[in-house]
Amino acid sequence: MSDDVRKDKCQGCLVGGAVGDALGYPVEFMSYECICRQFGSSGIRSYWLEETGGVALFSDDTQMTLFTAAALLAAGHEAGRKKVRSNVHRSYVDWLHTQDRSVEPYGVSELLDERQLYSRRAPGNTCLSALRSGRKGTPSQPINGSKGCGGVMRVAPLGLWEADPERAALLAADAAAITHGHPMGWIPAGALAWIVNRCLYAEVESLAGVIAECADNLPLLFHSQADAAADMAGQLRRAAELADNEDADSVNIPLLGEGWVGDEALAISAYACLRHPDDFSEAVIAAVNHGGDADSTGAIAGNIMGAWLGLGAIDARWTDDLELRELLLQIGSALAECR
Ligand SMILES: [Mg+2]
Repeated sequence: MSDDVRKDKCQGCLVGGAVGDALGYPVEFMSYECICRQFGSSGIRSYWLEETGGVALFSDDTQMTLFTAAALLAAGHEAGRKKVRSNVHRSYVDWLHTQDRSVEPYGVSELLDERQLYSRRAPGNTCLSALRSGRKGTPSQPINGSKGCGGVMRVAPLGLWEADPERAALLAADAAAITHGHPMGWIPAGALAWIVNRCLYAEVESLAGVIAECADNLPLLFHSQADAAADMAGQLRRAAELADNEDADSVNIPLLGEGWVGDEALAISAYACLRHPDDFSEAVIAAVNHGGDADSTGAIAGNIMGAWLGLGAIDARWTDDLELRELLLQIGSALAECR
């Protein structure tokens, strides 16, 4: 792959995630009926900017994704698994400092100089309390029983940074398990990094092929949690089947859940991407119009579509008003260059 293509895909993954997050953020706590009442029968299809001074604001999902990326860039490619995990944990504590100034930061990266990141955008309680505890969970030593989607929604950079898909998946599972102890809190994170990695590094013909390959590999990757891994694989296959049928998204998506937990968030996102594998805009729009955890499913779908199609496939209507666009582009570029 040429350097230009890699850069386009890395930037696309980060910017795409921020776009989906910013589109879904205003409707995160709205029912599907409520979304349609406010935005029309096809749901929310463009940024809602009325109360934001015309800026599309992203939420904690993208904030934490940036802190994941910054941790990797600071760790460097020679870092072993333990060092990566430690750096990611420290960087998340830095993020916690942006949400609560009484927390002492580690200062892993220069992200702490970005004043705009010091905004609270509905941060997840599980992330806040796990990071405040001073402890650091791992897949084998769970910090809690949470399977919330706060683990998966922040790990896409691992799939960009690490060229080997299996290692990317294991590192992403580690990153999620820092705060989310249930297997469904961290296996979907491993799956997302694997998918993003294959969108970037593999010579594959279709996104459906990438998702199917991920489902096939999950039980091997996470054999210590074989039942949960098989369950996640089954949900990805179900998402692929539903994406192929003639029914409306409003019929299909509820069959996959609401996205508050990690496995459902990944399955809904995969569904939206497989429904529109050639169209970034339609995929993220489908990913946020269901009445569940819209910013997270939007962010994950945007990560996948951006890595699959590249920044060039993301319409200017999404990037023009996007908060911290230059920072997202810069970090995406740095992830592409660090290989
Ligand atoms: Mg959020």
